[in-house]
Amino acid sequence: MSKKRGLLERLEAGEVVVGDGGFLFCMERRGYVKAGPWTPEATVENPEAVRQLHREFLRAGADVMQTFTFYASDDKLKNRGNDASQKIGCEAVNQAACDLAREVANEGDALVAGNICNLPSYLSGGSKEECQAQFKKQLEVFIKNDVDFLIGELFLHVEEAEWAIEVMKETGKPVVCCLTIASSGDFNDVSVKDCTLRIARAGADVIGVNCYFDPDVCLQTIRIMKEALDEAGIKKHLITQPIGYKTPECMDGKSKLGMTGLDEFPLALETRLLTRWDCHKYAREAYEIGVRYIGACCGMEPYHVRAIAEELANERGKFPAGSEKHCPWGEALKQHNYPWVRTRSTRSFWENLQPTSGRPYASSLRKFDPVFSLNTGHSDMKQYSEMTTEEEMKSLRRRVNKP
Ligand SMILES: [Zn+2]
Repeated sequence: MSKKRGLLERLEAGEVVVGDGGFLFCMERRGYVKAGPWTPEATVENPEAVRQLHREFLRAGADVMQTFTFYASDDKLKNRGNDASQKIGCEAVNQAACDLAREVANEGDALVAGNICNLPSYLSGGSKEECQAQFKKQLEVFIKNDVDFLIGELFLHVEEAEWAIEVMKETGKPVVCCLTIASSGDFNDVSVKDCTLRIARAGADVIGVNCYFDPDVCLQTIRIMKEALDEAGIKKHLITQPIGYKTPECMDGKSKLGMTGLDEFPLALETRLLTRWDCHKYAREAYEIGVRYIGACCGMEPYHVRAIAEELANERGKFPAGSEKHCPWGEALKQHNYPWVRTRSTRSFWENLQPTSGRPYASSLRKFDPVFSLNTGHSDMKQYSEMTTEEEMKSLRRRVNKP
């Protein structure tokens, strides 16, 4: 058992817990993860790369090392022609992830969070028993390794989150649950309010949102969640882990697909990337709403997490390691050779800057045209272990007029 102060102890003392960032996107960009399956077998194939990324998040101020086990369920590792299940296996991927997260967490004061997420089995209409059996295979490894707490994330349907919370609770570990919803509610149109009350009553200790949506959209949703809890008189700690890309199209709540609904997803999202200053703003707003577990998801690199930790340095009573190198508030720009760059060495300059995109032919927003069903068990959502066929590809492209 780790001697460190636990997650709930920290949150109950009113402390800010800074989360880590989106491992899959970081690792994909570095050449260790395949976009498409998005599975984390790099824990076995390239442990040095995973370890280094943990170290960078730790150095940036993260208090949590999530095991790199997102999409490491057995059904996902063999989905659509992926051979990671057969070649490496669920247990080995999850075990290696626990070893790496614990090793780096112990280099600082960070906690290890065993991570599970949405399942292909659930999308395919699988039963509660089938889905919980998948979760349990990962949880067994986490318990064997005595992780500090559990985090279930990227649940698009509140029902799946409830099933996950139930098995996470059985372990006796603190449970964090993040839904991936905007203001219109989950994929089944369950309202944010109902989603919130359901996962709160299922027994999660910390609840909130992660992935798919930018900080503005996530904060809009967490405000509704907080209101629902206050109204019902339920006390829960709050968490937000937004993506590092702007998704203003989702502020109206109509698109539930978030970044995945954008044609830029996932290979050309860079024009939407948040600046570190966007993250300063996000951290401050989240804090003011009352969120105390403030983290990040896809697209957020260690320097984004550093911005969160630096924004809240006073509240936390500490700066992350290496802040003097990182040029807080741009002041080190006074040391620049060029006078025109030296003029930018104030915090207010960077906070008030409206960055240009440098792409004169790009429009600022994209229209969403959802033509696919979001219902579990529907043929659009059904998953198979076989690779997607050419025939299926032709029919999918026809439906979105991309011949
Ligand atoms: Zn994400």
